[in-house]
Amino acid sequence: MRDDNCIFCKIANGEIPSTTIYEDDDFRVILDLGPASRGHALILPKEHFADVCALDERIAAKVLPLGARIGSAMKRTLGCAGFNLVQNNGEAAGQTVFHFHMHVIPRYENGPVIAGWTPGKASQEELAETAEEIKKGMQ
Ligand code: AMP
Ligand code: ZN
Repeated sequence: MRDDNCIFCKIANGEIPSTTIYEDDDFRVILDLGPASRGHALILPKEHFADVCALDERIAAKVLPLGARIGSAMKRTLGCAGFNLVQNNGEAAGQTVFHFHMHVIPRYENGPVIAGWTPGKASQEELAETAEEIKKGMQ
């Protein structure tokens, strides 16, 4: 399925040019226009899925192995020391383009600081209570 108003549908299917580093029948992998670090890439399925909750299982099964392959290539070629696979779902989580995509972000020794989260604190009781709430939604 395609969404005619979706920029990533157009990029993934080659209607809008992009700097492509990999393509197969299911995916196009492009360089991010606003890179967090040198080589920052986006894995785009060619089919439109708004986010991970909408993602087809066949495509989902291919995303992590592809992320590992791209990240490994970056380590070999760009000299990064590691990489992050990041995937945002929902505006509150930082998603700005509502076509599923996985970021592959190379991380360099002494490279740009990329903000993560500050670890908080939770008691065993709080963890247990939270776990029970989430488990109810998974039945
Ligand atoms: P997210 O915030 O997870 O939805 O990520 C969207 C990403 O897409 C951002 O990192 C943008 O820099 C990137 N982006 C938006 N438009 C384009 C484009 N036309 N080509 C390449 N990257 C883009
Ligand atoms: Zn789309």
